[in-house]
Amino acid sequence: MNPRYDVVSIFPEYLQPLELSLIGKARRAGLLELTIRDLREFTTDRHRTVDDTPYGGGAGMVMKAEPWAQALEAIQPSEAEDPEARPVLVVPSPAGEVFTQRTAEDFAREEHIVFACGRYEGIDERVLEWAADRFRVRPVSLGDYVLNGGEVAVMAMVEATARLLPGVIGNPESLIEESHADGLLEYPVYTKPSVWRDRPVPEVLLSGNHAAIARARRDWQLERTSRRRPDLIKDLPEDALDRRDRTLLDEWAREREQDDTV
Ligand code: SAM
Repeated sequence: MNPRYDVVSIFPEYLQPLELSLIGKARRAGLLELTIRDLREFTTDRHRTVDDTPYGGGAGMVMKAEPWAQALEAIQPSEAEDPEARPVLVVPSPAGEVFTQRTAEDFAREEHIVFACGRYEGIDERVLEWAADRFRVRPVSLGDYVLNGGEVAVMAMVEATARLLPGVIGNPESLIEESHADGLLEYPVYTKPSVWRDRPVPEVLLSGNHAAIARARRDWQLERTSRRRPDLIKDLPEDALDRRDRTLLDEWAREREQDDTV
């Protein structure tokens, strides 16, 4: 069954980019179902109030629990005994687990995900506790910085997830070679002309030798990852590196040590 995503926000128009490009096309082709809902439609007062002052004092406003409960009940009317039968409720938050390619892969296996876009100082914490009977609740952060609202985070998460669904990307091969697919950053890429403003592309790419090209690309991946994201190299499983990989990494580490001592 094609997956279903529901996004709740007080700024539904903020999410309009999800109608464009590959995700928009995938929606129109029925590869995924995406519904954007306005939280204010689930308020009951004349002013359609969604926020109030924080208990205990402090700056800013907090999103009220009841409109969220009404919205979430409308999307998922029943509780479920079996946690596996519950949809995922993603609550974007700088205080959540960090979203990575592994999270996107996880999400791409889910049948139904609801995204609850917070604003102000966030959503009354009791909503997350209450929702646990009908959802698998996951507070998720886009990274260690603070945005004004959850919408940008949700757009990033939906795009990273949806492009992994069958049929969304024209050539599924391109997903295999991308940054983070194998725990490394992607190698640098080049296109025509072969010499541009006196800069030739690396010669090996014109050689037609597929094994040599694959090895060169692997070396570039390792070099780039060890320089820009050494944390990713540390996280690789034991069997992810062959002998040449290890030799190269040791060489670069020694070179860097020497540079540091000069
Ligand atoms: N007071 C909150 C805190 O310090 O954790 C920040 C609230 S932020 C101004 C408003 C909303 O933006 C959050 O409820 C969340 O939905 C969203 N948001 C902000 N930063 C985010 C991040 N790094 N990842 C995901 N969502 C984020």
